[in-house]
Parts: sequence; C-alpha cells; structure tokens
Amino acid sequence: MYRSECSLFFVLLKLILIISAERVNLPDDDLYYFDPNKYVSSNNQYVQEVLRKYNQDPHYTNNNPLSAINQDLLNKLASTPDPRLIDSSNYPNQRNSRPRTNERVDVLNVGQGRHQNQNYGPPYNIDQNRNQYDVYPSASRGDPPRQYFENDPQYSLRDDELFKLLAQLDIRASQQCNINVRAQWDFETNVNDANQIRALEQQLAYSEFQRGVHNIVDKIDKWDIRDPALWRQLRYLSVVGPSVLPQDQLNRYNRLINDMLAIYNTATVCDLEDPLKCGLRLEDLNVIMARSRDWDELQHVWIEWHRRTGQKIKELFVQLVDLSNYAAQLNNFTDTSEYWMFPFEIYDFRNEMERAWDQIKPLYEQLHAYIRRKLRDLYGPEKISREAPLPAHILGNMWGQSWENILDITIPYPGKNFLDVTPEMLKQRYTPEAMYRIAEEFFVSMNMSAMPPDFWSKSIFDEIPGRPVICQPSAWDFCNGNDYRIKMCTHITMKDFITVHHEMAHIQYFLAYKRLPKVFRDGANPGFHEAISEAISLAVSNPKHMQTLGLVLTSIDDLPHNINFLFHLAMDKLTFLPFSLALDIWRWDIFSGYTRKERYNCHWWDLRERLSGVKPPVLRSEIDFDPGSKYHVPANLPYIGYYMGTILEFQIFRALCKAAGQYVENDSRKPLHKCDIYRSKEAGAILTRLMETGSSLPWQETLKLGIGESKLDASAVREYFRPLEEWLRNENLRTGEFVGWVYDGDYCKYSIETANLQVSGGYYNDATVFSISLSLIISSCLSTIFIHLKLSRS
Ligand SMILES: [Zn+2]
Repeated sequence: MYRSECSLFFVLLKLILIISAERVNLPDDDLYYFDPNKYVSSNNQYVQEVLRKYNQDPHYTNNNPLSAINQDLLNKLASTPDPRLIDSSNYPNQRNSRPRTNERVDVLNVGQGRHQNQNYGPPYNIDQNRNQYDVYPSASRGDPPRQYFENDPQYSLRDDELFKLLAQLDIRASQQCNINVRAQWDFETNVNDANQIRALEQQLAYSEFQRGVHNIVDKIDKWDIRDPALWRQLRYLSVVGPSVLPQDQLNRYNRLINDMLAIYNTATVCDLEDPLKCGLRLEDLNVIMARSRDWDELQHVWIEWHRRTGQKIKELFVQLVDLSNYAAQLNNFTDTSEYWMFPFEIYDFRNEMERAWDQIKPLYEQLHAYIRRKLRDLYGPEKISREAPLPAHILGNMWGQSWENILDITIPYPGKNFLDVTPEMLKQRYTPEAMYRIAEEFFVSMNMSAMPPDFWSKSIFDEIPGRPVICQPSAWDFCNGNDYRIKMCTHITMKDFITVHHEMAHIQYFLAYKRLPKVFRDGANPGFHEAISEAISLAVSNPKHMQTLGLVLTSIDDLPHNINFLFHLAMDKLTFLPFSLALDIWRWDIFSGYTRKERYNCHWWDLRERLSGVKPPVLRSEIDFDPGSKYHVPANLPYIGYYMGTILEFQIFRALCKAAGQYVENDSRKPLHKCDIYRSKEAGAILTRLMETGSSLPWQETLKLGIGESKLDASAVREYFRPLEEWLRNENLRTGEFVGWVYDGDYCKYSIETANLQVSGGYYNDATVFSISLSLIISSCLSTIFIHLKLSRS
C-alpha cells in the first residue's frame, strides 16, 4: 500500500532520493527564503511552458549531440572508481569560473539596489544568518522571469550549458536506474543467491553513480542559475543525505543502522503459558496481538517485544542521532529534523501538521470514546476506566497504529456483513488478468492512460511454479519510458481487486511524469504517490462502484452497512494518524536537541497520550526505549509522509468527487463515501494534472494546479466520515460516555527503581543477534525503483 522501505545501510540511498527542493510555501510577502521556484509558482502559464520544454527538448530524446567536454566528464564519471577524482578543471561551469559582480543585482533589478554589496552564497546556506534573508531576490518583488532569461544572453548561454550537462546526467541516470531496477526485479521474481548478489552489486553501483552526480553538481556555482527548473534540478541533486559523510563516518553510520536492525529483525519472545515455547518472532507476535483477547497474554507479548528490541537499541540510537545530525549539517541543514522536513517545503511544518490533526481530533475523540466503552465492556471497568487513555496493548496491533484487528469486538452492527464481492467474482470466473483489464478500463474510462505493451508482457500477476517470488504487491518503474510492471501474486478476492487498482494508479503516476528529467520523476512530495493510489482505492471499494461492475446484485445501501463500512476504514486510517504524527514529532524533537536522552522514552509517552489518548500497559522508564520497537526508528526512516499522504488522500478524493458531480456538500443523497469517479473525464483530468508535474514543482503548486487548493486540509477527512461521526456522537450520548481523555497517573519515569514495577515473570531466551547477511540486506528495496508494497508503514 505504501512505498517500500529499505533496510540497513541502503537507507542512505533512499534518503538521497527522498530529498527534493528547498523549503517554500511561506506566508505572503515572506522574504526569508530565496526560491526561484516562486517564479514558477507565480505563473501557471510558465509552468506549462517548462513542461512543454521538457516534452520537446531533444536532450531528453537522446538525439542531441553531446558537447565533447561534457561527454568527457561523463566518461570519466563512468570509469573513475571514485567519482570525486574527476578533475574539476575540465568542467566549464565550476565555481568562480565567472567573476561575481554586483552587476547581477543591477541586471535583475531586484532589491532596489540596497543590497548590492552583499555577498551571495548558496541559497541553502541562508539559514545560517537570518538577517541576510532579505538580500535574495524573491518572486514577490515582481521580476517577470521569462523576461530576463530571454534578454540576458549571458545567462541564457550559461543555462543552456547547464541544461546540456544535466540532460546528459539525466540520460545516464535513467540508464543506471534501469540496470539497477532490472537487477532488483530479477531478484524479487526469482529469489536465489546469484540474483541476490547481483541485485546488491547493482544497488551499490547505482549509489556510487548518484554520489558521483552529486560531486559534479557540487562544483556548479548555483548562484549563477536563473532558470527555476534548472535551479530546482540542481537543488535536488545537491543534497545526498548521509552519503556525504567521510568514509569512516559513513561506515559507522551504516554499522549503527545494521546493528539496530539486526536486533529488531532477530528479536524473539517466549510464550506466556509455555516457557519452553520460545522463538516467537514478530510475525507470530502480530498474530497474537491481532487475535488474542487475553489481557495478560497481550501485556506479556507487548512488554517482551519492547524489551527485546527498543531497550537494546537505545544506546545505538543515541550514537546515531549525533552522526545523523552531523550528516545533515554537511548537507547544509541545521539538523536531521530540518533535513527530513525539507522535501515538504513548508516553512512552519510542524505546526502545519499539528493543525491538520486538530481538524480531525473531534472525530477521533468520538471514536476513541466509543472504543473505550467496548473495551471496558470486555475487560472490565477495573482495567479500563471511563476517562483514561487506552492501554496500548489491547488495540490489536503491537504499536496501536491500526485498530482494525479488534473489529470483532467493536463493530457497530454485528451480523451486518461487510461488502465482499469475492464470491461473485469467483462465480463470474474472474481471472487475475481480467482484474488488471478491468482496472485499466477504470483509468481509461477517465481519459487516462492504457497500460503500455511491456506492462502486459512483462508483469507478473501470479506465482510462477518452481520459482520463489517475493509476493508483496508492487509497482515498478524501469526508468526507460516504456517498461512499467506490477508484481503481485493476485488472488481472486475483493481485497486484491482493490489492490490491483491501487498498484495500477502508481503506474499511472509513472506514466504521467515519464517525460520529466529523472530527478523529478517522483511524487510531488513523499506522501503523494500513496495519497493518489489510496484515493483510487477509496473510489473503487465503495458498493456503488461494485454495483456498476455487476459485482453487487442486491442493494445493501442501508445505515448499518454504511456505518460498518466507514467504521472499518476509520479503525485503520483514523487511528494511524496520531501514531504517525507522534513518531516523527518525537524524532524531530530529538534531532533538534529539544529532547535530551534522559527524556527519550517519557517524551514518547507524553506525545502518545496527548495526540492519541493511548498509554503504556505498564509503567515505563528511561531504561525502556519504546519507539525503538517500531521498524522505522532503527532504520532511521522518516514517517511523516504516511501521515500527510493519508490526509491528502481524502483531500484529493473530495476534489475528484466534486469534479465528477458525485459529491455535494450537505446533500445527504450524495455523501462523500459513496462517490464513484468511474467514467468521469473531469476526475481523470484532475488526476493527470496532479501527477504530470512529478516533483518538478513545490507540491502546494501541484495541488493548486490539480484541485485548486494549496494547503493540506484535513476537513475532507471529517466530511468523508461525517455519517460515522454523527452515529458515534449519538451512540456516546446514549451511553453517557466521556469524550476525550484525562491523564490518570504515571506512565513513564526516569528511574528504573520507580518503573517496571509491574513487569514480572516472563521467560527470557537468548536471542542470537546474527551479523547481517546479504539476505537481510537485499530483502530491502529502494524508493528509487518505486516499489510499492502493501503494509510497508507497518
Ligand atoms: Zn502503494
């Protein structure tokens, strides 16, 4: 469902590509950041011109004769083991190749001449001295960008040279990417040692290439660049994450992540009842968390998993924080939190994210109160009090991030089955290929792309006899403009039918931005790809669409079915939001130095309580390190993209439904959750507009072009779940529930003497920490190849 995660030291490679442009989306008239993209932002017509330029530019069609000097540079890049050894004197655009003068300010006619004696530095250094912010030309000062690009041949020439160089790098990047993705595909569709080693080799080679590109780009004097699209490309290519570290430090960084993930991946727990039954791994524990309704067993599993992972990871994580911050600083960020926020291009990012949660919280509180009652009914008032936060271990999930596993004890209308068209699909003799053909027709009906020939000949829709395949559903971009595939062991079920649409939406995204330079072939921000695919899932999964397809024969459009449908969705999506927000706020606070290591764990529980109304099952201390029990912490992978993507999903869905005439606010005949965008050309046009600019623009701009909104707006979440919210409110009134929660005692203390008091018994086996093997390394995958897995936020 969400973009795949890569494990181990390839995390740094992922970070290379997670990076996107500089921060923008500032309040009006804000001069704090120099951002050439504002020129783009201020003129949609210009956006279209830039796009046309890409579409027509011969650089991108491989026919353009490359200039000798740059070809030479590329050859060196290809043949030099360490790309840093490339002689920069060959490079015509190296720093200081042209004297910098104050004339530039005159030429640009910005700043009314009052800053002519200021020194210019790289734009991303300006954070270091806020007093100098306003020396930088800003779109708000009214410079028409096209005008001076065209009237200044000196700059045009320069931009042209750069365009050539970037075009060459771009072609090479696509080729390197293709080689790498093919190796990863070969491995995942035929798992054996030889393929594994080759996949790893190609991954490393690709990483080396990217580092080489970075080193070239680093030599370019970015201050001379006036073309916003060029500037943005260079900005993308100039931030490489931890790989900027000196080799010994980089090795240490990778080792720390390796060691933490080794602990995480090999942790095992013993059974509560049978102390000889040890070796329970996370996948076993997940089943217990999902199915057991035994308070003690759940508590045992929860405590043991956190003891076996988080506790052992803490000291390594403390070291990682320093090193990760050092790497961020080498990338010209103040710390890792700023680096992680960078691709979102929001000035006040944290507050913006919290504001979105504030919009949703009234709905969440109703759900929370209702669930607390149901759990109190089951476990008794002595364990669940009327006003307290919910204990984290009884929510059906190790991290309490999704509560859909406790639907059996919480469903509003038991006995009213969920919509499941699986029997009808079987009856109608659906095949895997038929499911993909129907999904394709869904997109084509909205005037979107049909799948290219390679898709049909090279995708894998089913298991292959005698060949071990990694079956997780994923969509693949082979970086060459014609090869796109899905890999999925498709079963004839409604769930898989929706997943097929989801994965094909990723392919639609790949196709929409395929003409952009490689560096922009990505979601508009790290949440966008999933947001669009999930919006499609919402559109497809509703009963109305299934009826249109002839898979629902009798109407089940009554209140109980509708409420159950919305409730099920809320138990996954809504509950996920405060968890994902807490996880990254917690890390931002650590990276920024706000939270010292004496407060790591207690700060986590403060956030969990404040945002989610969830508390630990037993008293915790700073000996514990509970967030370390979640994969993304030892892997050092940002998480906020999932949060933002989930909200965007509803925001985009609302816009699609309005455009399709399927949703009218306050019209009970057309509620948002029943919207079907099938055959709506208007909805298709919106999707295309959202996708075709890739990451070449700030995402707010993309959103504006697509749906006319330029901010994250969680009101769509409320609107979607409105019938459920009303139902929950009435239900909570009926039973006199307390809505909200009140802190009811200590959840976390610094000292071990005062904590862990309830932790007793337990049978501890010695989990062997294996050194990391190739298999572990290669079982990961990179965002570069856009593998999209179900449940990767898990
Ligand atoms: Zn996905």
